[in-house]
Parts: sequence; C-alpha cells; structure tokens
Amino acid sequence: MSSLPAPAAPSVASLDPRVCERARLSRDPRFDGLFFTAVRSTGIYCRPVCPAPAPKPENVDYYPSAAAAESAGFRPCLRCRPELAPGGAPGAAATRPWPVRSS
Ligand SMILES: [Zn+2]
Repeated sequence: MSSLPAPAAPSVASLDPRVCERARLSRDPRFDGLFFTAVRSTGIYCRPVCPAPAPKPENVDYYPSAAAAESAGFRPCLRCRPELAPGGAPGAAATRPWPVRSS
C-alpha cells in the first residue's frame, strides 16, 4: 500500500479528501460525525460508517457536517441516518437520537 501516515487524531481540520476516502472505505468509526460523504450521483449523503456499498470516488463530495451537506441539496441516507450522527444533525439538540452518556 501507500506511505500515507495513519490519521492518529481525526478532526474536522484534517479533512483531507484522501483521509476521508480511506476512512469511508474502511468504515472507520473514529470518523463518524467528523465528516459526511455526499454522493452526487444519488443526491444522498452518508456517514463514513454507512453499511451501503461505497460509491465511486468521482461521485463523492465530503462535508464537515450534515447541515452542510443538506444545504448543498443532499438528502440523508436512510440506512446510516447521517442526520442523527453525533454532532451532525441540524436539530441535534431537539431530536437526540440515542442515549448520550454525557459524563
Ligand atoms: Zn448511508
């Protein structure tokens, strides 16, 4: 494989497309909520951990939040529910999707 360094501490600031690409292809849970994969061919956006087959790289855009993907005209995937992802939902506070251990 390549000599790309492993992303030790993922953050929004490290949204390198190559990093995102590798994260979504490996469904790296560390990236869940850090970026969203928008698929131009379907108009859908997904979490990196989406169980659906990975779209072609040339059809993919990456967004730092679900809100950003939605404002670009994408709809949330029904399989991975990106609008419910940690830190991703436009209305996250109101629709808290799962028990959040806050402490
Ligand atoms: Zn999905």
